[in-house]
Amino acid sequence: MTVTAPGTAGATATSTTDLDAARAALRSRLLDDGVLVDLGSPGLYGRTGVFERVYSAVDAAEVRIHEDLDAEVLRFPPVEPLTAFERTDYIASFPDLAASISGFTGDDRTHRALLAARERGERWESFLQPADLMLTPAVCHPVYGLLSGTLPVGGRTFDILGDSFRREPSLDPMRLQAFHMHEFVHVGTPESAKQHRDGRIPGMRALLESFGLEIDVVPANDPFFGRVGQMLARNQVEQALKFELVTPVYGQDRPWTAIGSANLHEDHFGTSFAIRTADGGVAHSACVAFGLERVTIALFAAHGTDPDAWPRSVRAALAL
Ligand code: ATP
Ligand code: MG
Ligand code: ZN
Repeated sequence: MTVTAPGTAGATATSTTDLDAARAALRSRLLDDGVLVDLGSPGLYGRTGVFERVYSAVDAAEVRIHEDLDAEVLRFPPVEPLTAFERTDYIASFPDLAASISGFTGDDRTHRALLAARERGERWESFLQPADLMLTPAVCHPVYGLLSGTLPVGGRTFDILGDSFRREPSLDPMRLQAFHMHEFVHVGTPESAKQHRDGRIPGMRALLESFGLEIDVVPANDPFFGRVGQMLARNQVEQALKFELVTPVYGQDRPWTAIGSANLHEDHFGTSFAIRTADGGVAHSACVAFGLERVTIALFAAHGTDPDAWPRSVRAALAL
């Protein structure tokens, strides 16, 4: 979601067209200056050496501020089994963002029909069958299935970095279809989950500010689908379940962009995945994350596309 800059109370001072122009300008600059490579589909880019240099520095800095958590490192593939995806309920809340894998399972005849359609210049993906695999939309999803049962006293905390896919094609370089999130996830009691979510925010904010970015922390909601979704979104804000660390990539009076988030899921995953705490309660979970591409691009937007010319303090904070 996008949020409005503090003080502008919903009505942004600029029109959508104006905002689109600002997004297009940043996109062109990143492509022209060789930071990103256009892959010909909105929200999909190749990344060059200069991008990777900053991206790696951002990621390493994020890991440093969470070192005290002594989190268990886990990495997952970019796809998850349909059975695990099912239990997250993602398809109920975000059907428009979900995406599945398909494969060809037909015989020679079907293959010939596919090729004929292709020859006619038609789309041929309908000849593929849905596989029991989904692209992972949030990198913490696969962990909950591993935790069914009883947690140790104190719960468990994980360091999870991975690919995230969301079907939200856009020409805004801050909104990608394929991107990376580095999440620090805690599963434990209601108190320890809330403590994790709230306790990490000040350090995340301070780190982003040390990068020379202006940051605000604001209550936020996920873009739940449909009319029921609007209610869920309102609940999420009212119960202060989600906070975003936002920065004014396109100017103070335009919507600020979330480059990090801190979420309390309450017992959502604990219930779905039958995870219990040591004292027999349903587990609660929370995760905090940076969107690594978003932080990286926010840095290029704020300081220019040549990191060697960035302020000394910014380079020091990034150990660049
Ligand atoms: P937004 O409100 O901008 O859609 P979100 O609320 O969907 O973001 P989360 O689900 O909290 O984001 O994901 C964690 C982080 O991943 C976000 O804070 C952001 O930095 C990053 N992120 C989310 N969606 C995208 C995207 N489409 N492209 C790049 N990064 C993203
Ligand atoms: Mg979103
Ligand atoms: Zn998560």
